[in-house]
Amino acid sequence: MDKIDVEKYSNSISIPKPDISSQQTNESNLDSEDIWKIVTENLKLVLDKVEYESWFADTYLEKIQNGVATLSCSNEFKRETILKDYNKFLQSCLTKATGQNLQIEIHIKNNKEEKPQQRYKFVGKKGNPIIDLFTEMEDAKEKYKESIKKARLNPRYTFDNFVVGPNNRLAEAVAQSVVADIDSQMKSYNPVFYFGSTGVGKTHLMQAIGNEILKKNPNRKVVYVSIEQFLNEMIEAIRTKKNEEFRNKYRDVDLLIIDDIQFVEDYPKTQEELFHTFNTLYQANKQIILASDRAPREIKKITDRLRTRFEGGMVSDIQPPDYETRLAILQQIVEEKKVNIPNMFLDLIAKNIKTSVREIEGALNKVITLTKIGELPSYEEVARILQVDLESKRKRATPEKVLKVVSDTFNIPIKQIKSKKRTANIATVRQVVMYLLRTELEMPLLDVAEHVGRKDHTTVIHACSAIEKKMEDDVSLGERIEECKKEIFY
Ligand code: ADP
Ligand code: MG
Repeated sequence: MDKIDVEKYSNSISIPKPDISSQQTNESNLDSEDIWKIVTENLKLVLDKVEYESWFADTYLEKIQNGVATLSCSNEFKRETILKDYNKFLQSCLTKATGQNLQIEIHIKNNKEEKPQQRYKFVGKKGNPIIDLFTEMEDAKEKYKESIKKARLNPRYTFDNFVVGPNNRLAEAVAQSVVADIDSQMKSYNPVFYFGSTGVGKTHLMQAIGNEILKKNPNRKVVYVSIEQFLNEMIEAIRTKKNEEFRNKYRDVDLLIIDDIQFVEDYPKTQEELFHTFNTLYQANKQIILASDRAPREIKKITDRLRTRFEGGMVSDIQPPDYETRLAILQQIVEEKKVNIPNMFLDLIAKNIKTSVREIEGALNKVITLTKIGELPSYEEVARILQVDLESKRKRATPEKVLKVVSDTFNIPIKQIKSKKRTANIATVRQVVMYLLRTELEMPLLDVAEHVGRKDHTTVIHACSAIEKKMEDDVSLGERIEECKKEIFY
């Protein structure tokens, strides 16, 4: 994915052009070194110094031939980054310098190999003419790793392995804008408030933003914290009368990511201070990203002005992924882990586990473990293993949900189901509820009875056998009960 907005840079920056009028227009009319000099000048106009030095200080143009610009750099990490993040931008710089549309290829050149006599080098601040390029590159990589650790980010969460689908398209676009705007005085979205149920990818996406920003410049300050960590630190600061210090510490940060913000409800006394801290950061133009398992208006026990602050930037939800996205996520994990899992198993998982990507990953891991320890499991075996996951889902189905689903499916209001009415169709629907509560939720008989406004456990026993019998005689009743089950459990 190209992370550089080429349009933006191409329009705003005038890139020096070579004087090629007096020369023939064959491919090699300009010396590679001259072309590279022009290209690097332009790179430096756009990239900051650390970014330039990390990726381009020891990258060179070797030749241009048959529409291909061949570059060399010192290691694979660098090669991948340039191709992934800078390809398009580099291409546009090369086009401006040569007038040709060029594909880019990069090969890795061992440092010990002889270099052309004269290279165009970025001269560092101290004017040190000889820089050990290899060491420098290693340093940049180390620095990047170090900065991620300091920010408390997990390097596994990146944009590259975040699958985009209709469920998270807006959220991902917002994330990309945050990356693009990090240095801007005018932030498009601040704060960003992500919300969605557990396992839909909120933490992954927020950390991807942090990782990307540090990858571009490891000198930036990024902090990822859970709201509990943040508030505990804040409370400690209040206790030791160091509020000012605490606020100032976070004022220094370019990007503050706070996860699971819904738990702020548990800290009613600190909300005022939190509000002021947010204001301080916001006014200092610091980017804030928050995630919660529900929308701001659903976080009930918070002050109005804190809620207004949450809602003041971009509120973006992340939905559970649809079937295609679930399958794409599975395929990307399989690819990442370099394991071979038959498509029918991926399909089985994608069809059965619907709400949480975390559970999808869990199911896939089980299948991977199975294939690792022995022969390929059969379809039935895998289905049976997934059943365990379905079983745990089952545990989460509530009697209220059963009542609602049955009421909707058979079009009988819950009030009537719980009433004393004995009209045939209402009585049958009431029995369906009891049957499902008993057989699927495995609830005690008395509890079942209570949920339909009855007191006697024999009513429940009777209802269950009656429904079983009715299903034998009436296929469509069985089908509608199946429909209810699907709705309740998945
Ligand atoms: P949340 O914070 O919303 O509870 P996480 O971000 O922790 O969810 O995601 C749970 C798991 O699912 C993580 O391992 C994450 O990498 C993975 N995941 C979630 N969404 C995606 C996605 N769109 N593409 C790839 N992996 C995803
Ligand atoms: Mg999370």
